[in-house]
Amino acid sequence: MSIAENIDQINSNLHANIQLVAVSKTKPAELLMEAYRNGQRAFGENKVQEMVGKYEELPKDIEWHFIGHLQTNKVKQIADWIHLIHSVDSENVAAEIQKRAEKAKRTIDVLVEVNTSEEATKFGVKPTKAMELLKFVSQFPNININGLMTIGPFTEDKDASRDSFRILKSIFDEANNVIFIKKPMIELSMGMTHDYEIAIAEGSTMIRIGTAIFGSRTININ
Ligand SMILES: *Cc1c(COP(=O)(O)O)cnc(C)c1O
Repeated sequence: MSIAENIDQINSNLHANIQLVAVSKTKPAELLMEAYRNGQRAFGENKVQEMVGKYEELPKDIEWHFIGHLQTNKVKQIADWIHLIHSVDSENVAAEIQKRAEKAKRTIDVLVEVNTSEEATKFGVKPTKAMELLKFVSQFPNININGLMTIGPFTEDKDASRDSFRILKSIFDEANNVIFIKKPMIELSMGMTHDYEIAIAEGSTMIRIGTAIFGSRTININ
């Protein structure tokens, strides 16, 4: 199937309130344009360098989602135009986003990434530390905490995926009921090619799909 058909196929299974982020990491600009011509506007990238290159080359109405680990020294390269940072997982990176957003005279939308599977190789704040980080980030005037993000476990075990997504949803519900969150969070970014149906059943509002749209990646840099 073509990229356009893959996108149509996924969209036909989504309720209107779920956004599809097309994860285009490692894929060349022509393939993003195929998706773009089929109406896709939200693209996800996990390397700053690669995203900046594509941003410069491609149409300006694309919404760029940063889904990888964000190093503080790279925030300035994306601060003027990033649509959503899915991966805030430390006080340092949040403080840098605040600084760069203020300079750019804008508010930057972010999600706090939680390592719900507690796999050591994954980034993201531990579930037990999530509230503290949310509280810290919520003090910044130029950052809007739109929600939470998690990467489910790399397994075909549906119960393990479901447990992970339920942890994220419970932190979301708890945080939205405490006083330090300025306004309720609305987004739960969870679900990839292998587990998005489970994520949707558990309340996802944003799925991040690469393989099912663009095919498998030859280089294995997640
Ligand atoms: C690569 C990646 C995805 C997409 O993964 P697929 O299995 O190809 O759908 C989603 N989220 C993050 C954070 C990723 O790095």
